[in-house]
Amino acid sequence: MNTAMKNEKAKPRKTTDRGELRTDDLEVIYDSDAGKTVALSSTSLTINPGEFVCVLGPSGCGKSTLLNVIAGFVRPTGGEALLDGQAIEQPGADRSMVFQQHSLLPWKTVRANIGLGPKLLGDIEANSTVNHFIEMVGLKKYEHHYPDQLSGGMQQRVGIARALATFPRVLLMDEPFAALDYQTRLMMQENLLNLWEELGTTVVFVTHDVDEAIFLSDRILVMSASPGRIVKDIANPLPRPRDQMISSEPKFMAIKRDCMEIIRAESLRTF
Ligand code: ADP
Repeated sequence: MNTAMKNEKAKPRKTTDRGELRTDDLEVIYDSDAGKTVALSSTSLTINPGEFVCVLGPSGCGKSTLLNVIAGFVRPTGGEALLDGQAIEQPGADRSMVFQQHSLLPWKTVRANIGLGPKLLGDIEANSTVNHFIEMVGLKKYEHHYPDQLSGGMQQRVGIARALATFPRVLLMDEPFAALDYQTRLMMQENLLNLWEELGTTVVFVTHDVDEAIFLSDRILVMSASPGRIVKDIANPLPRPRDQMISSEPKFMAIKRDCMEIIRAESLRTF
């Protein structure tokens, strides 16, 4: 590592562009050898700039498909998805994705993984950007480690830092903490909220965990299968900043009850 890079201070930076997402009557039908699957049907939604929205639903209800359409990985068979009024037709640097299993390059260090995006995008302050995000996810001591030398939680922290280091307008998260143990997951949720509160990026977070959705979100979109669609849009008025103790409060329980009622009714309908 050169001296200039070593001495470069981590400069706090803010994301200023917060994307607005909209989908109009979105439909995705997969056509495979096994036949046709309607993964999404009549899905219309708006996600406001800087909002943290959780998409909650059982396995197979179309959550990842919705995220993949927004990411530009899947083209809808009907309707459209728009970012800041522009139709989404392909992946772009204005959207970053974090997956359940980290997708880090195993032959690159933590530092190099996080620096990949900023360097590709020609960020002239790439080294300082990397320093900033390494510190934000608490991995300064591990910056020269390789992914397989880190715990699952640390690997996901690198994945999140890497996704944020390009200052996306939208952060898409597909069950990013589902493979982690309970305690690590709780810490990761708090860490994510701290990052989001500093950066203000619009977040769409897919989960099947009701408590996780309530803890994180401003709003919860509950999805149901057969066909995949949004059945309820629940505002989450819990105050911020939050820590995990909030889950024992009556207001948290009341939102959980609302979610559970909808999930139960939909499960009975599709069982
Ligand atoms: P979730 O994320 O809620 O588990 P998905 O969006 O992954 O749901 O899947 C929704 C439905 O679409 C499921 O029935 C799934 O089997 C089907 N599906 C997902 N991807 C494909 C694909 N590439 N080809 C065919 N069917 C798919």
